[in-house]
Amino acid sequence: MMTTKILAQTEIKATDMKYKNRVRSRISNLKDPKNPGLRKNVLAGAIELQRIASMTAEEMASDELKQLRNILTQEAIREHQMAKTGGTTTDLLQCAKCRKKNCTYNQVQTRSADEPMTTFVLCNECGNRWKFC
Ligand SMILES: [Zn+2]
Repeated sequence: MMTTKILAQTEIKATDMKYKNRVRSRISNLKDPKNPGLRKNVLAGAIELQRIASMTAEEMASDELKQLRNILTQEAIREHQMAKTGGTTTDLLQCAKCRKKNCTYNQVQTRSADEPMTTFVLCNECGNRWKFC
């Protein structure tokens, strides 16, 4: 009986601590000079306190961070598109699998600059991939 009571109390204490820490981190986020937008919104009452309590860390992030994340995402998309559409089509390379001469190649400097480029080849006919230096 006693043990249960103590355990329950400890649990309440832990929850209380967690809650306090959460509130404290929210407040420090509001005080963040890099996050004036959020503070202004709070002061203006645009964001209800209830809403702040359920905001995710991502939502709490400053506009600066949001912009940075956007840029990074766009760069990743662009890179992905380049990888998809990039490369040079050639009829000088022959696919070992289907014997067709319809390939796309990309030359990549894998190691240091004085080492030869690695050529990545993709067969446009059968999708076979290989590489050579
Ligand atoms: Zn092929």
